[in-house]
Amino acid sequence: MTYTSTQLVTIQAIFSKKTRLLMSALHILTALSGALLLILAIGCQSMPGQLAPRTGDEIVVAGQMIHSGAPVTLWIDTGGYDGYRGHRHDEPEFEGPRDQPDRILRYGSFRRDIPVSLRRRVIRDGWSLEDLTEVIDTVVLHYDACGSSSRCFHILHDIRGLSCHFLLDVDGTVYQTLDVKERAWHAGPANDRSIGIEIAHFGAFPTMEKADTHYILEGDRIRLNPDSVAGTSAADAPPYPARELLFEGKIHGQQLYQRDFTEAQYRSLESLLITLCRTLPRIEPVIPRLEDGSVHDRLRPEPPGQPVAGIVGHWHVGTHKVDPGPAFDWDRIEKALRRAGLTAVEID
Ligand SMILES: [Zn+2]
Repeated sequence: MTYTSTQLVTIQAIFSKKTRLLMSALHILTALSGALLLILAIGCQSMPGQLAPRTGDEIVVAGQMIHSGAPVTLWIDTGGYDGYRGHRHDEPEFEGPRDQPDRILRYGSFRRDIPVSLRRRVIRDGWSLEDLTEVIDTVVLHYDACGSSSRCFHILHDIRGLSCHFLLDVDGTVYQTLDVKERAWHAGPANDRSIGIEIAHFGAFPTMEKADTHYILEGDRIRLNPDSVAGTSAADAPPYPARELLFEGKIHGQQLYQRDFTEAQYRSLESLLITLCRTLPRIEPVIPRLEDGSVHDRLRPEPPGQPVAGIVGHWHVGTHKVDPGPAFDWDRIEKALRRAGLTAVEID
């Protein structure tokens, strides 16, 4: 093939234009990579005054920040719930019984019943993650009977003078109120060795009508009654139970009815439990099942000297408690733990 001189000039022009474009792109890429390297170099230097990055999913265990994969608001964050606070969360000028100087704490300043050598070391040096691992083997799940984490913290902290490490709101937000190292007051005899999680929910009741007190029908779909959560942290949360059924079951011999928790709550709970089991490996990633496979509906069996640890409900450690109630989806939690490679329990 032969080209006329006009065609050759045109081809040269096209080539030189392409070359110029290519060179420009190379220059831009070089400049960008240089800028990126500069940003990385500055970022790695931890300059005084520079904000330390947080991604918003970190929980605190013995002073260590650990990713959980769930949305987390810490007690030190704006909008968080501070379990260390020595006065009420709302109306701080009001003095409650726990505000007396000798009863100011809402949590135990020390986990008890630990070996003497460990106790001495912790008193001297504070908790390390390794030392805490030796002590914690249980997670206790509650429902808060308040329907929102804001109301739960008010009742726990301001009114009752109690505490719980984690509050799990209707929208799946995890509020951590205390470092896991603290002895939160949430489950009586289990406080020394456990971590507590209060899941926002109005609770289980002895009749179907009462169980539906805080729910309404929206079309053909059941949802939380907006009036029941107005003005609380759950006001704008997706209001639908994860499963449509009204659940029923017997706990400590009591017949109870309950609507389900929300999808967002289950997702965050799965992530939080996986995180806690991985961080504190003496927490067995198992739930309390009887030999026939059903979930234990009374106190967990605990032979003397052979504590049965793991992930339990409040009813498994207290005869007068029924939370988290018959709607709680233990199978789902067990499957999530297994998917995370944490349990060898076989489920269909
Ligand atoms: Zn409880």
